[in-house]
Amino acid sequence: MIKNSILITAALVVGVACTSENVDKVAYKQTPDDHASIEEATSKITVTSIKTEKARSQIVRVGAGENLMGVLKRFDVTTSQVISLIGAVKPWLDLNKLATGQMIQVTLNENGDFKAISIGVKFATIITATLAEQGWQVKESELETEFVDRHIQVNIGRSFYNSALDTGMDAEVIQRAIAILSYQVDFQRSLQETDVFEVIYQSTQLINPHALSSESDLNKVRYIKLTVAGQVHALYLFEVGDDKFERFYYADGRPVQSFLLKTPLNGARLSSTFGHRKHPILGFTRLHKGLDFAATVGTPVFAAGDGKILKANWGGSFGNRVTIKHANGYQTLYAHLRSFAKGLKAGHIVKQGEVIGYLGNTGLSQAPHLHYEVHKDGHAINPLKLNMPQLTEQTLSGMELAAFLNTVSRIEGQLQQHHKLQSESSELVFNYILKENLQ
Ligand SMILES: [Zn+2]
Repeated sequence: MIKNSILITAALVVGVACTSENVDKVAYKQTPDDHASIEEATSKITVTSIKTEKARSQIVRVGAGENLMGVLKRFDVTTSQVISLIGAVKPWLDLNKLATGQMIQVTLNENGDFKAISIGVKFATIITATLAEQGWQVKESELETEFVDRHIQVNIGRSFYNSALDTGMDAEVIQRAIAILSYQVDFQRSLQETDVFEVIYQSTQLINPHALSSESDLNKVRYIKLTVAGQVHALYLFEVGDDKFERFYYADGRPVQSFLLKTPLNGARLSSTFGHRKHPILGFTRLHKGLDFAATVGTPVFAAGDGKILKANWGGSFGNRVTIKHANGYQTLYAHLRSFAKGLKAGHIVKQGEVIGYLGNTGLSQAPHLHYEVHKDGHAINPLKLNMPQLTEQTLSGMELAAFLNTVSRIEGQLQQHHKLQSESSELVFNYILKENLQ
């Protein structure tokens, strides 16, 4: 968290001090926690900006209870201009639903008049709306990124979560690993300080930090290993089927996930858990009957298990929702979807991992997310506490097994190499980073 705040502060200084054309070209060093390098870069830009001053840009943070109208009024943008701006950027995002803390870049012309507004729409993607005589012109631009593979091994110590976080591991990686490991390990009880957690994951990272985008975006966790009291749980990610449904397997090809998925989508962050909480829109405390997963609008949502579609329609505050009836008295619900899978209707039979819809922000929803509920005999239960038999019939075989075993030996080879490097240094905690330019 500290690293992030330093980064944002630095970007803020840059944004205020320089011409907008120069912001994107500044080459930062890759270490965001290195104060000296950021200050160096900042002072360099300030000098350049005096020479080439054409336009100025400011980074504005949306305050609590503030809306776009409030922000742009400060720059003398009229109400009707704001309304047409909202319409112009509608294909990218709903400006009526700006979150508190959202960063906006406002660019002024040489006279100090409003010229353009830029806003991040998702990781590494920014739209700029320029006010022209004939209305708003919207342009989408992509920031430069690269793939980064990380291999991290850490002693559990007193807290699994904090020890992992201290290595610089992405919080999302830890959450995802816990969700997968929770099929085998009871995190409330079984962990000891000497246990070891190891993970390989890939993320896409900005080459140069930017105030309008998060620094990195997790692609996938490829390997998870947890050693509990000498017992090893090693799990490998593998994609199956045309939908590229990702699932974790043991080294012999048996699936880790069971009857119902705890996480019915790839690449999501758990943003709200099961239990009592203050409702973000309604304001009062009530039971949150499911899990919320934040991800990009349009992320495919999978059927958590084999079953029959009960509903695939508008569900009031749920927005577009799907409910599925499974065996043994289980039902699952998926809410706030942007849209349904093509042709999906009540009565259809679906398989676990089949795409049923796409993540959205419909109904009573503040930000794009999937609200996921699991019901057993009519009562909502916590999906993370699901404890069900494994799906032995989904064990990999034939061509798929051969491809999977290839993946396993590739990962094992990588691990061996890294462990050899590690044994040359005496520390147990290590953090191996491999970069690759995105083509
Ligand atoms: Zn929810």
